[in-house]
Amino acid sequence: MAYTYDDQNIFAKILRGEIPNTTVLETDHALAFRDINAQAPEHVLVIPKGPYVCYDHFALAASDAEIVDFTRAIGQVVQALGVGADGDGYRLLSNAGKDGVQEVPHLHVHIVAGRHMGRMLSPA
Ligand code: AMP
Repeated sequence: MAYTYDDQNIFAKILRGEIPNTTVLETDHALAFRDINAQAPEHVLVIPKGPYVCYDHFALAASDAEIVDFTRAIGQVVQALGVGADGDGYRLLSNAGKDGVQEVPHLHVHIVAGRHMGRMLSPA
């Protein structure tokens, strides 16, 4: 399956510095910033800097260094928010494609925390 990356998506523009963001963490291969429309007291998006459409694209095509860096960045953000380990917890999710209701076609994981999240899925 071929993945087509649109470099005009809003996160690509953030990575190029064309649109501002509220950065939480930056690493060699990842950027974490606050979601502009937070769904919880804490809502941070973590994205790889490389041109990956969605999680499976990244998991299959990214280098080991990118995967390690991105995964560690998620852990560091959770730690910085104080919600991991002995904290109150969080939800980590990544939407993909039409059925996943992905709005921005650049891989991002949402880290949401600071309130009880309810059940994982609600009826469509
Ligand atoms: P998704 O449906 O998983 O693609 O979610 C995209 C997320 O990106 C939504 O939660 C939006 O609120 C968020 N978003 C869109 N534009 C921006 C932006 N400029 N800065 C931060 N978050 C954004």
